Amino acid sequence: MKLCEIINVGTELLLGEILNRDAQILCEKLAALGISVRRAMTVGDNPGRLKEDFLLALGRSDIVILTGGLGPTADDLTKEVVAEALGLPLAEDAAQKERIEAFFRRRGYPCSKSNMKQALVPEGCTVLYNDNGTAPGCFIQTGEGKAVALLPGPPRELLPMLEQSLLPLLRPYGSGVIVSHYVRTVRLGESRMAELAGELLDMENPTVAPYAKEGEAYLRVSAHGADREAAEALCDPVIKKLKKMLGISVYSVDKELGEVVLDLLTAQGKTLALAESCTGGGVAARLTDLPGASKAFLCSFVTYSNEAKTAMLGVKPSVLSRFGAVSAECARQMAVGARKRSGADVAVAVTGIAGPSAEGTDKPAGLIYFGATDGARIIGEKLETGRCDRGYNRAIAAKIALALARDLLL
Ligand code: ATP
Repeated sequence: MKLCEIINVGTELLLGEILNRDAQILCEKLAALGISVRRAMTVGDNPGRLKEDFLLALGRSDIVILTGGLGPTADDLTKEVVAEALGLPLAEDAAQKERIEAFFRRRGYPCSKSNMKQALVPEGCTVLYNDNGTAPGCFIQTGEGKAVALLPGPPRELLPMLEQSLLPLLRPYGSGVIVSHYVRTVRLGESRMAELAGELLDMENPTVAPYAKEGEAYLRVSAHGADREAAEALCDPVIKKLKKMLGISVYSVDKELGEVVLDLLTAQGKTLALAESCTGGGVAARLTDLPGASKAFLCSFVTYSNEAKTAMLGVKPSVLSRFGAVSAECARQMAVGARKRSGADVAVAVTGIAGPSAEGTDKPAGLIYFGATDGARIIGEKLETGRCDRGYNRAIAAKIALALARDLLL
């Protein structure tokens, strides 16, 4: 398998001003082509260090892809450094010169001398056209059978150039494809999930790796095969085994929890309503992010105050004064009220203390109650995250609310 290294150039990346989205795009696309990314490094706009790192990468890998630093300004030096390191002179490319001039003519701006720097390319390279900016990319094949590619920094320029021009040139370097699937679980926790997955975590093809995120833990199953079908055939039995080992906690392979809930609702011809307090519409947002949500999702009552809970959902003032708004009783009455007032088949409610403080109650931040009903049954759940992180508590609350809807529908 051919080995690839990525070098993302830009001091703004090292200062933490922007996220390195280019690395993410490249890693994802190259894996799909069966090219193994061995390292991805970030280098500032410093020609000396860039040359040193580039030569190091080229010495130990078959393909080096550099992003950024192709612009017209003095600190954009990637092309110059790479050309010098490879001993290639820069020469003006007539087609690129014309494209850059036309680009500025269309916009009605004068084309400066520094812009013309972008028409220079290393001699003998394949020029990669940029339909979304002025900097062309380059693909260079060295005498030693290695490949070097230069791509522009802005992701909106890099992605189309990668897909349309560079990936077809890299295809001969790929060996087969890498396919990944995600076995997703809820309420299980990463360490318990890993324990249950046991020896499968030590496999080599496919590899099985655990991840955790806000109340969800999932296992990525990745296989390398000669083609997609072969890679899928390697993943398939392992996914089946994992589903069996992890049981009901597995809510899907690949699909988001919201999607699973919508699928269940649609398949059963049912509708859903929500009653949200601490999530403030976050559960509804997760559902309405998905196309086609309107088929099954009716509405969400965002009832933040006690008064709203009573007026909009019919929660009894005696429940609020006796148990408080953050209580199992309130969550259940919110669910019952949401179902009744919306006419939905199923309703789910969430009320809790998002934090960071206890918000004037004697209850801790991260205490969250859920209620759900389909008319025949009312179920509830209590969660104590033990965390004061508002964003985390709200995110996990939205996820558990969806998990409860799934429980009721299964
Ligand atoms: P330009 O022709 O626009 O100057 P360039 O190839 O010279 O492109 P840079 O000057 O390095 O690219 O970066 C321009 C902008 O592109 C950055 O300010 C940033 O917004 C974005 N960018 C650069 N590198 C990355 C990266 N690795 N991930 C995400 N965005 C990036």
